[in-house]
Amino acid sequence: MKIIQNPIELKEILRKEKKSIGFVPTMGALHKGHLSLIKRAVSENDITVVSIFVNPTQFLPGEDFEKYPRKIEADKRLCEIAGVDYLFAPTSDDIYQDDEVLIKAPKIKGYILEGFNRPGHFDGVLQIVNKLLNIVKPTRAYFGKKDAQQLYLIEKMVKNFYLDVQIVPCDIVREDDGLAMSSRNVYLSPKDRQKALLISKSLKRASKLIMDGKRDVKELKDEMKKVLKDLDVEYIEIVDRDFNKIDKIEKNNSIILVAAKVGGTRLIDNIWV
Ligand code: AMP
Repeated sequence: MKIIQNPIELKEILRKEKKSIGFVPTMGALHKGHLSLIKRAVSENDITVVSIFVNPTQFLPGEDFEKYPRKIEADKRLCEIAGVDYLFAPTSDDIYQDDEVLIKAPKIKGYILEGFNRPGHFDGVLQIVNKLLNIVKPTRAYFGKKDAQQLYLIEKMVKNFYLDVQIVPCDIVREDDGLAMSSRNVYLSPKDRQKALLISKSLKRASKLIMDGKRDVKELKDEMKKVLKDLDVEYIEIVDRDFNKIDKIEKNNSIILVAAKVGGTRLIDNIWV
């Protein structure tokens, strides 16, 4: 595995590779969720590129940019074992210039849910993902459904800018007890980790009710609220796969999303139904 810090250097090396390229962008502190994307990329492409970059422009002032877990040595080993060919690990100065041309998230879909609670977050996400896609020019890029709205907006950017890449959505990987894997889970005290389980429980509850034939969004949200009553909930929402609000569940076209703070740690989770 080659470790590369300089975007131009990586770009030049990859342009010489006349093969399919799978790309997995991450912020590091890799866990089994990331590894599932990486393994899929390795199995579906000739060459796999993983990036590790804690992107400052997607954090709002007062968020956890400074304390975000950084575990580059462990990450290198995991990537090596997983069969990654190139690990791209730039610094901020390597990849950002002064007074840049900026990409703006869509005014509506970029400012609901995550975008409402973290205004400007998706501008930063799209800015870095656009750069990374242009540097790597992958055949396929792998993104987790865990960040459902991010995935939707990246697919939209690819469409709107006619980018030449196939976006591959990947299922959420969970701990045995249901907690969605996240680099931020390390912030949770044992007590808060127990409380955090209510998030996946609320989604399971909704999914059970849907299996029982319930379709009314208000009723489902009310049931979820009961499960989540002890948490500091930011939103419980049910949307279609284009992130439009809906009143009735549309089977195979709906996403149920939750964001909540547990002991100061902000967690998100969702299920696709
Ligand atoms: P991050 O390092 O948090 O920016 O995540 C990098 C990629 O991994 C994103 O596409 C995430 O959606 C994806 N990801 C993070 N957690 C999980 C998970 N538990 N299951 C599947 N994909 C995940």
